[in-house]
Amino acid sequence: MTTSPYRPDLLKGQHILITGGGTGLGSAIATRFASLGAAITICGRRRSPLEDTVAALRAKGSRAEGIPCDIQHREKVDEMIAEAESRQGSLTGLVNNAAGNFLSLSEQLDPRGFEAVMSINVSGTFHCTQACAQLWIQRKEPGSVLSIVTTYIETGSAFVMPSAASKAAIAAMMRSLAVEWGPYGIRLNAIAPGPIPTKGAWERLIPDKSFEEKLRDSVPIGRFATREELGNLAVYLMSDSAASMTGQVIELDGGARLAGHGAFNGLMQLPREKLAKHFDSLRPPRQPRPPKAR
Ligand code: NAP
Repeated sequence: MTTSPYRPDLLKGQHILITGGGTGLGSAIATRFASLGAAITICGRRRSPLEDTVAALRAKGSRAEGIPCDIQHREKVDEMIAEAESRQGSLTGLVNNAAGNFLSLSEQLDPRGFEAVMSINVSGTFHCTQACAQLWIQRKEPGSVLSIVTTYIETGSAFVMPSAASKAAIAAMMRSLAVEWGPYGIRLNAIAPGPIPTKGAWERLIPDKSFEEKLRDSVPIGRFATREELGNLAVYLMSDSAASMTGQVIELDGGARLAGHGAFNGLMQLPREKLAKHFDSLRPPRQPRPPKAR
């Protein structure tokens, strides 16, 4: 466990809603925010993960509430937010973390599967973001929104096309609103993680151990980013330390996306000694220097 880079009361006075906060990365972000004094509300469709996470947070002395909600339905989002504020006061921040994703051959993809991912990811994120912003604008209060996207928003990705399309849309939503709502003091940013082990992602997206190893081997730093690192970056973006940061998408993937792109990055697979010899052999022989004029 590394030492915390933050004051223990950094988020005191904040009340942050985290969608999909009962499991995986959402639960990790909730735990990190709560450890720095924020009151937390988490939502998701299933009651039991919400109850488990809330119980764990309360056991550590944090203020936490879980409210079941399917964010695809705007009226349910409004009800959930009203309930959250009646329990713990005005919301100051929102993390759009809830998402759907699955592997499929796009030529065989059932249109209902495509629509479900777009509905949860794009419409759900819009519903929560707009509902919070309307309250903040009406109250003349600032607010901060963080959306969890993914590194393949820049490149797309085979076999997860609805996720890639929807997360790219979320990034565009955050960037658009950062400009439009900047004058109201509402900041919107996104984190684009590479793979970070969670039960949900691994069960749906990582078919076997050898695929996991291949993925890990493609990360230049030699490992996946951790939930703690994600939590710390999320804290920074939600805190006043990032008061002028808005409309940004920050990658957290150990350099993996960049490694997949540079024309010569494939050479990373070869041993360094072999590369050094190869590069030497390609250098033109040195020309003797002409004698200095006296
Ligand atoms: P996860 O545990 O499966 O999290 C997804 C969460 O979203 C669940 O808590 C789920 O709860 C909730 N959710 C889904 N549909 C919902 C709906 N209609 N309404 C409300 N809540 C809903 O997976 P994760 O790995 O932690 O992923 C969290 C986020 O990180 C996602 O946005 C994902 O795209 C992103 N991400 C993850 C990775 C990774 O490697 N783990 C990498 C890049 C990006 P219910 O099912 O109970 O509704």
